Amino acid sequence: MNKILKKRLISLAAVLGIVLFSGGVILGKLYMESRKLSPVETREIAAGVYAVKDSYVNLFLMKTDDTYIAFDAGNDAKKVRQELLKLKIDPKNVAAVFLTHSDPDHVAACILFSNARIFLPKAEEPMVNGQISRFLFMKNKLALPHELLEDNQIINISGLKIKGISTPGHTPGSMSFLVNGTHLFTGDTMGIKNGEVTQFNDLFNMDTRRQRKSITRLAALPGVDYIFTGHYGFVDLPEIFFRNWKE
Ligand SMILES: [Zn+2]
Repeated sequence: MNKILKKRLISLAAVLGIVLFSGGVILGKLYMESRKLSPVETREIAAGVYAVKDSYVNLFLMKTDDTYIAFDAGNDAKKVRQELLKLKIDPKNVAAVFLTHSDPDHVAACILFSNARIFLPKAEEPMVNGQISRFLFMKNKLALPHELLEDNQIINISGLKIKGISTPGHTPGSMSFLVNGTHLFTGDTMGIKNGEVTQFNDLFNMDTRRQRKSITRLAALPGVDYIFTGHYGFVDLPEIFFRNWKE
C-alpha cells in the first residue's frame, strides 16, 4: 500500500470513529432523557378532562356539552383510537384539535379526528411549509387543512373559551392554551419534576432561552387551577408549581 493511501485510510477511520462516538453519545443521552418522560395513563384526570396516553406522549381532551376538544393529537392514530375506546370516546365526536406545536408525536394522529377543525399556531406554520427544518434536514409536516392562531387569540367552541398564548422555544411557534381561564395546556414548553416546573429538555428544544422566557410568561397568569404537559403529566397546585422558578 502506498504511503498516501495509508494516510488517507487512517484519517477516514479517525473521522468515522469520531462520528460513531458522537452519534453513540447523543443516542445514549436521548435514551436516558426518554426514560425520564412520565406521561399519565389514559383516564379522566379532572372533571371533564381526559388524558390519553400514546406510548411516551399525552394528548388531552376536554368535554363540552355535546363534543370534545383535543389538545394535541398524539403520534400513532391506531394506538390513540384504542385508548379513546377505553374512555368510550368516538374520535368523530372531537370538534377541534388545538396543536401546541408541529412535532410528529403531537400531530401525526390528527388524521383520526375527521370531523375536527384543526388549529395550529401561526408562528409554527414555517415549520410545516418547509421554511424551517426541525433538525438538520428533518422537516415537520401537517398535511391536513388547518386554521392559524395568533398570540392572545380566543376561540369559543361549545361553551369553552380557548385562548392561545404564544410560548416559543421548544419550536419557534409553540403555543400554550388556556381554557376558561383555569386549565392550561402547555405541550412541550415545560416539564415537571417533583411537582415543580422545569424547562423542557435542551436536546429537544430549538431555543431554550426563549423557552425560559415563555415559562415566565405562563408563571404570571392568574387564576390557573391545572397545568397539563405533553410528556410529564399534570399538576393541580400551580402556586407550588412555579414557586422556585427562575428564568
Ligand atoms: Zn413532544
